[in-house]
Amino acid sequence: MRLATRHGRAHLVTDQGFVDVSAASHGRFSHRVIDLLTQLDEVGTWWDEVHHEVTEELVADPALDAGLGPVVDQPSQIFAVGLNYHEHAREMGLPSPTTPMIFTKFVSSLAGTGSPIPRVSDSVDWESELVVVIGRGGRHLTPETALDAVAGYCVGQDVSDRELQMAASPPQFSLGKSWPNFTVTGPWITTRDEVGDPQNLGIRCDVSEVTFQNSTTRDMVFTVAEVVSYLSRVVELRPGDLIFTGSPEGVGQGQKPPRFLDEGDIVDTRIEKLGSIRNTVVAPF
Ligand code: ZN
Repeated sequence: MRLATRHGRAHLVTDQGFVDVSAASHGRFSHRVIDLLTQLDEVGTWWDEVHHEVTEELVADPALDAGLGPVVDQPSQIFAVGLNYHEHAREMGLPSPTTPMIFTKFVSSLAGTGSPIPRVSDSVDWESELVVVIGRGGRHLTPETALDAVAGYCVGQDVSDRELQMAASPPQFSLGKSWPNFTVTGPWITTRDEVGDPQNLGIRCDVSEVTFQNSTTRDMVFTVAEVVSYLSRVVELRPGDLIFTGSPEGVGQGQKPPRFLDEGDIVDTRIEKLGSIRNTVVAPF
């Protein structure tokens, strides 16, 4: 199942188009994606029963992705993992970490596909990332059971202002990655059952039609299950929480010479089975 937030309301993404879950279920289900993440089985069963009855005015062509926002618009927490791909650590001149390096991205920086990225400095960089969307959540999850707490996955872009990130010592990752629209998620959540193994997905980023990142989640240092388990030993993971699981190699800072984003650049981020998001870089606003 695929779940989108479109014009602020939860939509199923079906072969026939977008379906407003609350409207089509006559209010049985919430209009907020965050409320549906712990009811995925019920929503799936309902859709199996009614999909042939849904009238045409409830659907629109998924190719017309206007109105898609961040997949969850009010998560309580957004986590991110630094240096979680071996080849990315290498391009940054650092060893692969032996403990997950966790930081946050602030909720006010969330954006969806199509949202403009402000060029706030001369060193705005891209990081394409697999994003975990927490379903049931919880505490003290083991790596063996951690994925049961996950609702699904989406494509993420962890936009990073390297200048602000490195302005303090030690670096202030969270602030440098939380300018407006620096936390892009989309185009929708694909549920875990449709994705299968999260450690076997191609991940790619093109900037203005040049491919800079082209890797696979097999290169992660800590697996999705290990990251979810690690976090849950400290914090309570809640429905709708997002985890950016790190960027593969090929960020702008890793180029020789470094290549950062310019106004007019188009950042196209895509992950196998999950779709793609597309954001244009603009003057600061
Ligand atoms: Zn990142």
